[in-house]
Amino acid sequence: MTPSARPGTCRVWYCGRCRAAYKSAPPLVDTACSCETSVWTLHPTTVTVPHTPPAPRPQALNDDEARHRALARPGRRVQVTFEADVDTAWLTRGADGHQHLTVLVITDDGQHHAIDTRLPGVRIDAAQPKEKDET
Ligand SMILES: [Zn+2]
Repeated sequence: MTPSARPGTCRVWYCGRCRAAYKSAPPLVDTACSCETSVWTLHPTTVTVPHTPPAPRPQALNDDEARHRALARPGRRVQVTFEADVDTAWLTRGADGHQHLTVLVITDDGQHHAIDTRLPGVRIDAAQPKEKDET
């Protein structure tokens, strides 16, 4: 059975040289034999291609991923936190004359994220310093 096989039952002849199918009747299974001359086999093999291929096994979710998926529901109130290193920060004066602080942080994957502290509910706290590898 090949990935492009179509559901149904067919008879398949396999090449005696490369062991790949060279004929399928009805043509449900793609022939893969690329020999210049297929080595014919007298007796075909009956191949049943399942109607629904088995679903790809979902990758195991770690606890965080499973929790995130359970929380990711419209209307659910959540608190989003992550740790990052402050790269830089700046004050901007808004149209209303108030200054507001934007903090540019770098997460451990090297991505920069600008945190607009005007966002309601944003809270920045000191995190535990990262443990340095002592090698
Ligand atoms: Zn062959």
